[in-house]
Amino acid sequence: MKNWAGNLVFHPKKILNPKSTEEALSMVKEHLAAKKTIRMRGTGHSWTGLNATDDSFLHLDDMQGLIDVNATDQLITAKAGTKLALFGEEAFKHQLALPNQGDINHQSIAGAFSTGTHGTGITLQSMSNQLRNITMVTGTGEILNIDGRKNSDLLNAVGVSFGSVGLITEATLKMIPAYKLKVESFAENMKVSLEKYKARLQDNRHLEMFYFPVGDWSMVKMMNLTEEKESAPSKLKEVGDIVLENWLFEGLNILAHKTNSYKGLDTFMRKFVGHEVFVDWSHRAFPSSRNIRFMEMEYNLPVEKFEEVFEELKASIKKHDFQTLFPIEIRFVKGDELWLSPAHKRDSVYFAIHSYIQQDFKPYFDEMQRIFKRHGGRPHWGKWHSLTHDDLESVYPKWHDFIKLRSEFDPHGVWLNDHLRSLFYKRK
Ligand SMILES: Cc1cc2nc3c(=O)[nH]c(=O)nc-3n(C[C@H](O)[C@H](O)[C@H](O)COP(=O)(O)OP(=O)(O)OC[C@H]3O[C@@H](n4cnc5c(N)ncnc54)[C@H](O)[C@@H]3O)c2cc1C
Repeated sequence: MKNWAGNLVFHPKKILNPKSTEEALSMVKEHLAAKKTIRMRGTGHSWTGLNATDDSFLHLDDMQGLIDVNATDQLITAKAGTKLALFGEEAFKHQLALPNQGDINHQSIAGAFSTGTHGTGITLQSMSNQLRNITMVTGTGEILNIDGRKNSDLLNAVGVSFGSVGLITEATLKMIPAYKLKVESFAENMKVSLEKYKARLQDNRHLEMFYFPVGDWSMVKMMNLTEEKESAPSKLKEVGDIVLENWLFEGLNILAHKTNSYKGLDTFMRKFVGHEVFVDWSHRAFPSSRNIRFMEMEYNLPVEKFEEVFEELKASIKKHDFQTLFPIEIRFVKGDELWLSPAHKRDSVYFAIHSYIQQDFKPYFDEMQRIFKRHGGRPHWGKWHSLTHDDLESVYPKWHDFIKLRSEFDPHGVWLNDHLRSLFYKRK
């Protein structure tokens, strides 16, 4: 069994595939009686050890689709295994949409909100903030319904809990009326991006920068609401996608890796990034294709630290002569109240560091992580990091409250694996 990137390989004894909450409940009860553990996956799009198990492995691939649409309150209840792509299309049939999304739509809804999956836009929160109601099977072998109107604290505790409290089987998400986005992207020197970012952040619903460290340039992407008619992606977009996301980019990475000619290839690559604009419905405009496999680490920092941390990253890359054709992705997210959300109580900037799968990512990621840690960074739960309990307790004010609550809902550790133990327990 492997995750999307292939960096996580494990051998579960059993695969569980429940088709209903009741069936999931009886599976959990059996495991409790036999003192066995379960790890659940969405679609395996995380890099951390969240999914790994040599015991039982559970997925909800047969629990997909909408259960209820409340058009008046703009609420959709869906089965927790529903993939984001399907969820987006089904919601669109009811003229509803999520206010924000990340850059792919292959994840399951439960997997996405359980790790705090986010897009970009300083006035917009992570996907987990759309949760209004959850049905879950807890580690005590019970079905628990959490209604955010009656128990917002519990929903805030469980909303980002990466399958450590229970198996979520249904979720109700707050939607907004379907909308179109005008997407604009272009390349420029990073110096210009830095001069303009504050104004762009205020003037655009979404701002994202892909910083290419070898050539010190960025690809800027801005998205805004529009009433314009949807357009077919331009030829330039197709070329840009091929360069940045598909086989040509893969080819360039292999070449760069073998010949160590990063500078020349980075310059070559920049030429392919034209100025492109297209319009589409939001659920189609947000996702891109990410066919090339890579390692990723992403850290959240207070937004006011953006420039300081960026300059440190840049200086460190130069000092250590780290070579990569992959960009550092820079996104902005509004703060929230979810206990384990990396954006907990702070408007945030996210820096995502990438490395080609065949490169040794560790020296690069370790250096970047050192900088993030020094500034109070919080890692994305689904993306590679090496933090353990002691690091996390210092950056999450609700860390101990969460651990206490988690053990009440999972007193026998049915959901625990080595990775989760390293997060929740001090090393002896
Ligand atoms: C190419 C790529 C692009 C990405 N882009 C973004 C992005 O733009 N923004 C961003 O923030 N992240 C992004 N991610 C990260 C990704 O969104 C998260 O790692 C997400 O958790 C993956 O969802 P999944 O369905 O694959 O869940 P998995 O990775 O399989 O699981 C994630 C966690 O959720 C838990 N879980 C899954 N289902 C359930 C359930 N039913 N009940 C309880 N717990 C459950 C799992 O146990 C695990 O702990 C990207 C990842 C990849 C590989």
